[in-house]
Amino acid sequence: MESVDVVVIGGGQSGLAAGYFLRRSGLSYVILDVEAAPGGAWQHTWESLHLFSPAGWSSIPGWPMPASRDAYPARAEVIDYLTRYEHKYALPVVRPVRVQRISRSGDQLLVDADDGRQWQVRAVISATGTWRHPYRPAFDGLNTFAGVQLHSAHYRNPEPFAGLRVAIIGGGNSGAQILAEVSKVAQTTWITQQKPEFLADDVDGRVLFERATEKWRAQQEGREPDLPQGGFGDIVMVPPVVDARQRGVLASIGPPARFTATGMQWPDGSERTFDAVIWCTGFRPAVSHLEGLGLIDAQGQIDVDDSKVRSVAEPAVWLLGYGDWNGTASATLIGVTRYAREVVRQVTASNAPTNV
Ligand code: FAD
Repeated sequence: MESVDVVVIGGGQSGLAAGYFLRRSGLSYVILDVEAAPGGAWQHTWESLHLFSPAGWSSIPGWPMPASRDAYPARAEVIDYLTRYEHKYALPVVRPVRVQRISRSGDQLLVDADDGRQWQVRAVISATGTWRHPYRPAFDGLNTFAGVQLHSAHYRNPEPFAGLRVAIIGGGNSGAQILAEVSKVAQTTWITQQKPEFLADDVDGRVLFERATEKWRAQQEGREPDLPQGGFGDIVMVPPVVDARQRGVLASIGPPARFTATGMQWPDGSERTFDAVIWCTGFRPAVSHLEGLGLIDAQGQIDVDDSKVRSVAEPAVWLLGYGDWNGTASATLIGVTRYAREVVRQVTASNAPTNV
């Protein structure tokens, strides 16, 4: 058994941001990551993915992301940035280690890995992201559908769908971007719960970050946010999505009433045949390692205090980077910094050496 003050679980951007602030805290700590290589979930996103904002708006604390050749950095540039970031700050990342279970033992927490290793700690920062917990809604008849099904978490490129009839389900940025490239090689139908909301062509993801920052400021100042119409997940009109609109494939229809063996049936009785379905229906927090502590609610989230980052039921557990319930825009590169700083401030304060 090893003993440290703090274990950070997850070595993606959130875990590294926490590590950056922990370096200066005086606490001993280690970052445990199940991946074989640096980069967190960016290693698994589809091949053509580019960020929806420039490098200057995609940095974690300290060292900014280097400028990109393109207006928007490619996923490989994000992976390279996170890899170099980890080395630059000599962050103590141990991988591959899958944390399986956390349990309380007196005034300590025990962190168990699936290979038998164990850490005894005073605080846990859980920063395991969402990629390992893809979400797919339930539909009547889904288990009878004989076609191919794939979640966006595992989508790589459009090649396997060439010549097929493909339903793309989900009205966010993933759905729009995957539709944009699959529609070049396949006959696509875009299915969304609500009518998708698009940003104007002449703005990019920075608008979403500005909205998130205004919401955060308003929360800090105890006032209502001064926000334009629109949400935090509106679709950014990146060039492939603009191109899809020009080709006339960016229109969506509402969800079916049920799946059939060959496709789907809508409430008006009409049917469509599909060879494949790509689920772009999002993710839930990947927090199964916290199940033993009894913290997870029916939505898969954890009750946090007003700071958004500390578990109410287990105050030695902090959560970082899981999305808006855990801090507005915390699941973005630029958005995680303010929450990582706050987590480490709280961890440091609650683990300060007592006077003897
Ligand atoms: P992750 O990157 O998932 O890192 C968590 C790490 O923890 C992983 O390495 C994982 O393997 C590990 N882990 C999980 N469970 C365990 C365990 N039990 N034990 C040990 N390790 C574990 N953000 C932007 O800022 N700009 C964008 O343009 C943008 N585009 C996006 C496009 C897509 C398609 C998606 C899906 C997301 C996008 N995001 C964007 C959002 C966000 O930046 C990413 O989701 C980001 O990867 C979240 O970082 P994270 O460190 O919180 O989680």
